[in-house]
Amino acid sequence: MIYLNGKFMPIEEAYIPVLDRGFIFGDGVYEVIPAYSRKPFRLARHLNRLQHSLDGIRLQNPFSDKDWENLLEQVIAKNEGEDQYLYLHITRGVAKRDHAFPVDVPPTVFIMSNPLLPPPAQLLVGGASAITAVDNRWIRCDVKAISLLPNVLLRQLAVDVHALETILIRDGFLTEGAASNIFVVKNKVLLAPPKSHLMLPGITYDVVLELAVANQIPHEIREISETEIRTADEILLTSSTKEIMPITSLDSKPVGNRKPGKMFTRLYMLYQQYKATHMRGHFPDAASS
Ligand code: PMP
Repeated sequence: MIYLNGKFMPIEEAYIPVLDRGFIFGDGVYEVIPAYSRKPFRLARHLNRLQHSLDGIRLQNPFSDKDWENLLEQVIAKNEGEDQYLYLHITRGVAKRDHAFPVDVPPTVFIMSNPLLPPPAQLLVGGASAITAVDNRWIRCDVKAISLLPNVLLRQLAVDVHALETILIRDGFLTEGAASNIFVVKNKVLLAPPKSHLMLPGITYDVVLELAVANQIPHEIREISETEIRTADEILLTSSTKEIMPITSLDSKPVGNRKPGKMFTRLYMLYQQYKATHMRGHFPDAASS
């Protein structure tokens, strides 16, 4: 069951007009929110980021945070599975094709849910492979825009060679993955690229850094050069749906000793503990307190 413009319905019955600006221009933003034990994880952070994306494209938020929370709870309740991921999508609505913003047109609001499966154990134990590519996206990557063509093309480069992700490099420095954030480990220090307009401020990225602070894990937030990626002891990938994953091969060369490393194992365990706290009904979410 999905939500579309005020109604709940089976996804097969959901249609949007061809003049929707999401279809015509990719003029919209989205969010992906995991729900564990039917509770949205870090909801306040996701709604903050949604507001940032809406501000970035000058589209008014159609709902208050409380309204979003109610809607998302209803979508979760109408779908199967204790763990789900919610996909929320807002476009600038339906109007005669013209680049200029339409006046007094309601936005299109769509929410769907899919089962959230943990990453395959085989990849957590054996590690995953990634390739690198030049980051050729626009320079507002902090906006979670639905116009994802560059990300689609970059991710496909990885799919073509049976790799999990494409790691992006802009002007000699790491930005992020085609659909994930990337951390590097060098000499037992966790390195994270600083948030900027060149990367999506990942919700999982924040969790990892909070866990590093809380557990005295040495870490630095700074620019990471291409050479540092290529000589990393470990590379970690994070996203709401993939959580934390070890990248053990980069451009067909081993990362470290080609096995998931100590930093990955530690952060993975901490992340699972953190999730369990959330599922027991505590919400250790700084943004909501
Ligand atoms: N960067 C990009 C480009 C992404 O698509 C994603 C996944 N939505 C992320 C980073 C990770 O963000 P999050 O941890 O909030 O899922």
